[in-house]
Amino acid sequence: MRFRSTRKQSPEVDLSLALTQGLAPDGGLYVPCDFPSVTLANFKGSDDPATFAIKLLTPFLKHSALERHTQDICRKAFNFPLPLKRLNATTSMLELFHGPTLAFKDVGARFLAASMSKLQSRSTVIVATSGDTGGAVAAAFSEYEDTITLILYPKGKISRRQEIQLTCWGDRVHAFAINSDFDRCQKLVKDALGSSSLQARHRFISANSISLGRLLPQMVYHARASLQYFEETGIAPDLIIPSGNLGNSVAALWAKRVGFPIRRVILATNANSTLADFFQSGVYQPHTTIATLANAMDVGNPSNIERLRDLYPTMAQLRNDVAVNLVTDDEIRKTIRSSPQVFGEIVCPHTATALQSITPGEHAIVEATAHPSKFETIVEPLIGKAVPVPQALLALESRPTRSIDVPSPDTFLNDLAQWI
Ligand SMILES: *Cc1c(COP(=O)(O)O)cnc(C)c1O
Repeated sequence: MRFRSTRKQSPEVDLSLALTQGLAPDGGLYVPCDFPSVTLANFKGSDDPATFAIKLLTPFLKHSALERHTQDICRKAFNFPLPLKRLNATTSMLELFHGPTLAFKDVGARFLAASMSKLQSRSTVIVATSGDTGGAVAAAFSEYEDTITLILYPKGKISRRQEIQLTCWGDRVHAFAINSDFDRCQKLVKDALGSSSLQARHRFISANSISLGRLLPQMVYHARASLQYFEETGIAPDLIIPSGNLGNSVAALWAKRVGFPIRRVILATNANSTLADFFQSGVYQPHTTIATLANAMDVGNPSNIERLRDLYPTMAQLRNDVAVNLVTDDEIRKTIRSSPQVFGEIVCPHTATALQSITPGEHAIVEATAHPSKFETIVEPLIGKAVPVPQALLALESRPTRSIDVPSPDTFLNDLAQWI
């Protein structure tokens, strides 16, 4: 398959080049030139995730250097369960938090890591994180001996559990506690990726959410869950997706585009109102980010907006398939509190935005994007009891941790050589 830039000013590329480049040279994001249309009869909702992934992703890897590794990459990425649980007559919950760092980002990070390990023998992954991305990327790439991973996080601004998940991956993962905020960390990563001298020396690759290597595999669980729901009920459900940078939601819309039984995608957002305002007015206007309880979705200018608008050139087309529901912190608290009684589930603040976006009587799959134990300081006071901690997280908490203090971000890139 060929991929083109959303800005249409760069040459078409295959998947391997799209992955090594990250961003297209014209500054746009890579999208498929044409979507294949799938024959649903070839897919079974009961197929295990890796088998389903191989069937769905084979056309996307075709004619690239990754083609002959499709099976291996899919088996490495999809090695944990992605269960769909029925909550009531019209609602099911897709649990995306059974990977190594208990969030859906494990799927994309593991696929990208497995793909990169086939494409270049030695590489340095660099990523800025304010939450789940860094942990998932560190966990995924730490399995490959030829890769060094650099995680930049804002010192003192993440939770104790988040910090453990960034700093416990051993010698090849360097976690830098930057004495600044997330935006500064992200700027340092951009500068590193843009510097030709650093680039020549370290062969940096980007693992941020615009990478196709994270987006494409995310199609798999949306597709599989929708088919499972359809096989059970004969009804194409809505997917209600906690959304920030829109990576997960664009992947869901790609799954719809290739033919899976998805009626609409509902973007559940926190109080960051960029998307809600855009759907209302038809004018896209980024806002400054505000901090909310669902912090992995604190985004004022979603990086995948170009892919969304590319897929739906007019507002009428967009509104036909997609809707937005904005959820305030008060509503998040209320939903976390009531969910154990109403649905029999303890949920994280992100998942709460999706539960809050259910329309009674409409068939929907609510996506649970992270395990509540990752956000225990928010969840436990609201439900009045401890959140059970999964074995995977307990195992991480007993590992030794290591982080490098960076008191002066300004000289960080110049000093990089002393650490790696
Ligand atoms: C990253 C993240 C989101 C938002 O996903 P996007 O692809 O950025 O829209 C939602 N929930 C959790 C738990 C996350 O980590």
